[in-house]
Amino acid sequence: MNAVEIIAKKRDGQALTRDEINAFVQGFVRGDIPDYQVAAWLMAVFLRGMSYEETADLTLAIVNSGSRLDLSGIAPFVADKHSTGGVGDKTTLVVAPVVAATGLPVAKMSGRALGFTGGTLDKLESIRGFRADLTTEEFLAQVRQHGIVVAGQSKDLAPADGKLYALRDVTATVDSMPLIAASIMSKKIASGANGIVLDVKVGRGAFMETEERAVELAQTMVRIGRSLGRRVTAVLSDMNQPLGLAVGNAVEVKEAIDALNGRGPKDFVEHSLAVGAQMLLLAGRVKMADEGTALLRAQIVSGAGFAKLKEMVAAQGGDTSYLSDPSRLPQARFIQPLPSPQTGFVASIDAREVGLTAALLGAGRQKKGDPVDYAVGVTLIHKVGSRIHAGQPLLTIHANSEEKLAEAQQRLLSAIRFSDARPEPPPLIHRILRDTDVA
Ligand code: URA
Repeated sequence: MNAVEIIAKKRDGQALTRDEINAFVQGFVRGDIPDYQVAAWLMAVFLRGMSYEETADLTLAIVNSGSRLDLSGIAPFVADKHSTGGVGDKTTLVVAPVVAATGLPVAKMSGRALGFTGGTLDKLESIRGFRADLTTEEFLAQVRQHGIVVAGQSKDLAPADGKLYALRDVTATVDSMPLIAASIMSKKIASGANGIVLDVKVGRGAFMETEERAVELAQTMVRIGRSLGRRVTAVLSDMNQPLGLAVGNAVEVKEAIDALNGRGPKDFVEHSLAVGAQMLLLAGRVKMADEGTALLRAQIVSGAGFAKLKEMVAAQGGDTSYLSDPSRLPQARFIQPLPSPQTGFVASIDAREVGLTAALLGAGRQKKGDPVDYAVGVTLIHKVGSRIHAGQPLLTIHANSEEKLAEAQQRLLSAIRFSDARPEPPPLIHRILRDTDVA
């Protein structure tokens, strides 16, 4: 079957076979199927969806477009985590070092900012010298020597995902359940970890806005992981308001440093420990989540987690003086508070709008390959449920142009709602799905 027939079959709502999906993906990676045909196919998948079997076949086709890492010679169990994408989501910067500090190796391939969501690699690159583009050999050597690595997708691991993601980004086909599931799980399978915790974001600042859609995505990814011999847990976490206070790159690195030094915002720290505890549970290092949380908190109290972050940054060429003295991180020209327009309780902070505003300031990308401004972003002072008086600072904007500062002020004012009565803050974790919970 040729590419046009495969596109037409999906356009008409029919299920594709494993061979068709594989031929299409490999044809794209080889350069035999041009971008415009793949773009049409992606839109057909977006509109028509895919069955579980098609999604699993697409995942394997993407994995088979490159090589698979074998970490079995390095450690008996290696853990990984992945977020479906959020606003203020600097979880990896805390989870990876605190988990690795307990002796459980963490090997993670991370992504970059796209649309309203931030990217871990951009955040880490606000530290001078930090290298995210490791070769496969460097990635493996770092897990062996340091028990921790956070790097970008290398050319030979799931290369089809990088190419597909770039096209999805410019064809409005990112927020498709089967495409997200296959994109995330192909990277996780290719990078070799035995246990994977998926942080599936739910709400305004997430690709899945409803819990129902997030559960469907989580179940699909857990089933795919299990069918390929991986242990997978999904943590469904709230993304209606940003996580923590900082949204941007350097501002988020600073917040992660604060958290590792015991001074992080409560929601961000609790969320990070909850995700990390699930990694320890998957590895059989603890029997109960509470035990895991306590063990991870101890890594913060002792400073071992912060030391592990420094060790990783140094191993990847970064200047660790930026971590010891975060005032060295890039700083914006204009750092301006935004006064509250009214007295009352903060009722909601639209995470998507805050993420889009940070992107507009330059912290994110409009399209793949755009440069990122590490210094800009937004730091909240108040979160949902907090009481504020008119004129008190609500948040701080970090901007590098007066024009963008003014635009950000307008957008952020319309992103925040107030109420006279104290609202219930949203739950941090909606639910946890283990592989035994998924049919
Ligand atoms: N993260 C990914 O790696 N892929 C997606 O499609 C969405 C979020």
